[in-house]
Amino acid sequence: MMFKKILVANRGEIAMRIIRACRELNIATAAIYSEADSTGIYVKKADEAYLVGPGPVQGFLDMQQIVDLAQRIGADAIHPGYGFLSENAQFAHLCQASGITFIGPSPQAIHLMGNKVKARELAKTVGVPIVLGTESGDVGVDEAAAFCRTAGYPVMIKASAGGGGRGLRVVRSEQELRASMETSAREAQAAFGDGSLFVEKYIERPHHIEFQILADRHGNVIHLGERDCSIQRRHQKLIEIAPSLILTPRLRAEMGEAAIAIAQAVDYDNAGTMEFLLDQEGRYYFIEMNPRIQVEHTVTEQITAVDIVRSQISIAAGEPLEIRQEEVTLQGHAIQCRINAEDPRNNFRPSTGTITAYLSPGGIGVRIDGAVYKDYSVPPYYDALLAKLTVRGRTWDETVSRMHRSLEEYVLRGVKTTIPFLKKIMEEPDFRAGRFDTSYLEAHPDLFEYDATIEPEDLVVAISAAIASYEGL
Ligand code: ADP
Ligand code: ADP
Ligand code: MG
Repeated sequence: MMFKKILVANRGEIAMRIIRACRELNIATAAIYSEADSTGIYVKKADEAYLVGPGPVQGFLDMQQIVDLAQRIGADAIHPGYGFLSENAQFAHLCQASGITFIGPSPQAIHLMGNKVKARELAKTVGVPIVLGTESGDVGVDEAAAFCRTAGYPVMIKASAGGGGRGLRVVRSEQELRASMETSAREAQAAFGDGSLFVEKYIERPHHIEFQILADRHGNVIHLGERDCSIQRRHQKLIEIAPSLILTPRLRAEMGEAAIAIAQAVDYDNAGTMEFLLDQEGRYYFIEMNPRIQVEHTVTEQITAVDIVRSQISIAAGEPLEIRQEEVTLQGHAIQCRINAEDPRNNFRPSTGTITAYLSPGGIGVRIDGAVYKDYSVPPYYDALLAKLTVRGRTWDETVSRMHRSLEEYVLRGVKTTIPFLKKIMEEPDFRAGRFDTSYLEAHPDLFEYDATIEPEDLVVAISAAIASYEGL
């Protein structure tokens, strides 16, 4: 049976995204918020909103408080979004035990996939290639050094429980390895409450290719094609595209089947993503699975016309998938840019403050998943994502030009953002030609230098007000 009310256990743009899907499905929504972010748009857009304390982050992580609230207000399901409790098997279990549907996979699947080494083992058992690495998910320095002597440097140190680009470290010698393992373990312990590490062979200049999976509770598993998320800074994604510009239809089918095989091996249900690296020779390796909605799901939605969040909800309600694999078609191209409150010219330092002017771009092929507005104060406690700008077009060329034009139209003042930096990438010849892999930003240091002379604030405010009234906004 379809849910009556969903508690959205998240904030910002992803809370808005979930609320929008619920509206279309005629499901009531309840938001939770902290005092530090009580003016967030999603707080106003939800049908109900509840202050959860204490502190800016704690309330989003307090499992018992969230489940108690859901029961008290008659919410029959919880959507965790990404980050926070989305990959917490204990939380999924608590929901289940309290008679509330967790909109995501089973606690068992989350538990298994939450550990990169267990996920690698599983991929291996179903015949999917993985990167050469240590078998143990908790290696000591000597064991790691022995592996590296055989496998050869460079290698990558990874936290078994890692995520969000944290705990990753490339090392090029045994000396570096010995120095780095201790720091990595300490970092991983602090970030994930688990300091165990493993080591993987470092693949030079790969593409990050990931497959979006949808699986229902009736045994149907499909993939919605791939995304190329190679434009990264410090192993964190900045720009994502779909489809990949380098995958052949044959390789797409093969990798898609590999992704499905892994999902089937854990009896996976709901939306999930299998991440792979594709090396210079066109060989692919599974690296990890994300058992949740991802930030970049929008690009897949734009080329497949499938609403992934709506699918998550109906799968959790027990409904079968609405489409079969043969019905999935990839049309045109899509690019997503993460509009972050960060200063790219200053090492991407987070920027907070009040937004003094805001006007988002529009026109053909433009989609905004935003969480900000004029006069909103960007709180310093959360991740820097203000909005996601996704465009689609018929050809790659058209899509890049459209993204450039949209970034040009974007007025967002009061905090420093990634907009001018992203605009520069859209002008850069290698990007325009589709020549990029995960080393792209390192190989283009000039992108971090741009003219930051901007029009005076009052002029921008006046222009954006004039455009807004002209467009009847
Ligand atoms: P996280 O859980 O933090 O997302 P991932 O294992 O998904 O960590 O890796 C994040 C990124 O780091 C990848 O997209 C890729 O750019 C880089 N990376 C990960 N493993 C390797 C590897 N073995 N060789 C080269 N780059 C890697
Ligand atoms: P995506 O793979 O969807 O692009 P990101 O890696 O950008 O996701 O992470 C999305 C959000 O989830 C970020 O706020 C990130 O810090 C957080 N996150 C990702 N993995 C974890 C994790 N294992 N534990 C805690 N937070 C995480
Ligand atoms: Mg990853």
